[in-house]
Amino acid sequence: MKYDDNNIFAKILRGEIPCKKIYEDDFVLSFYDISPQKKIHALVIPKGKYIDLDDFNSNASNEEIIGLMKGVTTVAKKLGISSIDGKGYRALANISDDGGQEVPHLHFHLFGGEKVGKMVS
Ligand code: AMP
Repeated sequence: MKYDDNNIFAKILRGEIPCKKIYEDDFVLSFYDISPQKKIHALVIPKGKYIDLDDFNSNASNEEIIGLMKGVTTVAKKLGISSIDGKGYRALANISDDGGQEVPHLHFHLFGGEKVGKMVS
């Protein structure tokens, strides 16, 4: 499958569609999910064009992979939900159709701000 340059997160990255930005650096952009499923629902996306986690882990540079992983924790800290601050959250990536992925640009959901339960429904 080829990366779709017209997916909504590609448009957000290009600044064509607004987002409620939480954090940005050379590797990631983070913003609030438009339809929050928990008290805090943030998204963290890589700046590179990767469809999903398997595409990313197969094709991204080590620098990009480290950048995304560190980005998740940086955002959690910024939101005050990291375990370092004595809190917690769920990081979740849906992968392809069977995984329930709707937007074909890799993203981690960060759910927190409350007990998120065993699974996200
Ligand atoms: P997924 O099902 O894992 O692909 O999740 C896609 C997520 O993107 C959903 O939680 C949507 O609510 C969210 N979403 C879709 N459009 C936007 C947008 N313009 N800004 C922020 N979040 C969005």
